[in-house]
Amino acid sequence: MSDHDKDELLKEDSVKDKNNTGGHSSDDNKEYEDICYVCRRPESKAGKMIHLPINHICVCQDCMQRSIDAMNNSNMNYADMLRQVDPNVLNMINMQDMFGMNMNMDAEIPKNQRLKKKKPAEDKKPVLDIKNIPPPHKIKNQLDDYVIGQEYAKKVISVAVYNHYKRVATNTMDEIEIEKSNMLMIGPTGCGKTYLVRTLARLLDVPLAIADATSLTEAGYIGDDIESVVSKLLAAAGNDVEKAEQGIIFIDEIDKIAKKKNTTSRDVSGESVQQGLLKLLEGSEVEVPVGASSKNAMVPMVTVNTRNILFICGGAFPDLENIIKERLTEHSSMGFVADLKDRFDHDEDLISKVTIEDLRAFGMIPEFIGRLPIIFTLKGLTKEMLVKILKEPKNAIIKQYQKLLALDEVNLKFEDDALEAIAEQALEKKTGARALRSIIEDFMLDIMYEIPKDDNIGSVTITRAYIEKKGGPLIQMRGVAAIEG
Ligand code: ADP
Repeated sequence: MSDHDKDELLKEDSVKDKNNTGGHSSDDNKEYEDICYVCRRPESKAGKMIHLPINHICVCQDCMQRSIDAMNNSNMNYADMLRQVDPNVLNMINMQDMFGMNMNMDAEIPKNQRLKKKKPAEDKKPVLDIKNIPPPHKIKNQLDDYVIGQEYAKKVISVAVYNHYKRVATNTMDEIEIEKSNMLMIGPTGCGKTYLVRTLARLLDVPLAIADATSLTEAGYIGDDIESVVSKLLAAAGNDVEKAEQGIIFIDEIDKIAKKKNTTSRDVSGESVQQGLLKLLEGSEVEVPVGASSKNAMVPMVTVNTRNILFICGGAFPDLENIIKERLTEHSSMGFVADLKDRFDHDEDLISKVTIEDLRAFGMIPEFIGRLPIIFTLKGLTKEMLVKILKEPKNAIIKQYQKLLALDEVNLKFEDDALEAIAEQALEKKTGARALRSIIEDFMLDIMYEIPKDDNIGSVTITRAYIEKKGGPLIQMRGVAAIEG
């Protein structure tokens, strides 16, 4: 072979290589994501691409499916079909005769417009593996590290989650109709309902969507339609349908969609939302938009089956205690009514005597309650529990501040009396543990601002006087006795 021939061959190879990789070297291509030629979404959003033989263009599966659907639905020819798919393609057809070939629709995209592929995340092992779910006492042990008190709630939720994921893993739902372990949590605001679910989802490493029942309305009315809770879950699962189908959906403020009493107008935010939720709770196939909260023509849709999604509803249910009290006194014999009323008035844990009958009287429709077979209550937090919440959980607020200051080599201490003062102030706000953070943030601001100014400060002790704004914190310089700041 002459030198000239060799040169020609090399040239040909390099042209082939260029065509194969859309103009980028193959090493480059490994680093960058494929982009759908039609909808321009990268593969991380749109999923695996179909590589077309013409000029190495990629099309995502959603766009390909839409093209095929369009073709099936009508007798239009190929070009018409493509016109329906996307205006980009229309331009392309106009510019070049689609079937005249030699189209130069090179899919090359400038480097600065290409998305780098994310490095695959290291395989993190979840604390609790849903494929091999640990027994309930182990689940509760893990929850104990984070959630203070609420022993009964933690026990119920551990058993329910154990049953649920065991059923999912062994897939026995098809053969024997076992009821889903959907739950209803009743407890005052700030007592840890959301926190319990959040902690659980994190330990199980399953996606979690938290929705507010008040924002949901029947489809067609202003607000989020009911299926939007499933799209939220899909987003939390990074658009991975299989992952989403094993996730948890928490619907908060469920008491706010109680049936409105004595209403003549259509109850779009109450009863009909409960009606709308029925099929989701039970398990059904829902079509949800991918990567968007609303359905429109340009958003690809996927089908999510809610059969294995665990639904947990939570609410404070104010006034439920009165309903329970009324029922209990009604059922008792006449002579003791006054006596009983007095006893129930002082019963701190009256809410735990709730029955399905009471929830119906509150305004929840029977079909809805029927789909939440596990009903349990959480207790309002006491001062002692609030103090524990401040210091005991693995990620306790004061531990977080201590760690921050430790980075500056400052030792932050809280006197027990100071913690009690914080708990007392939080109790007054009547928003449960939620008040703790705002109180602490308020007085820690000065500390976090002032302390780094002086390198000689070795330790700071927060006292009750400081919390009650009657004095300063105790400041100790390195190697010197304590002084009041
Ligand atoms: P709600 O019951 O209204 O859903 P949350 O769960 O949102 O209340 O509680 C608010 C915050 O208070 C949580 O983020 C958490 O930090 C803290 N908290 C509440 N209850 C507990 C608890 N039992 N143990 C530990 N922290 C709690």
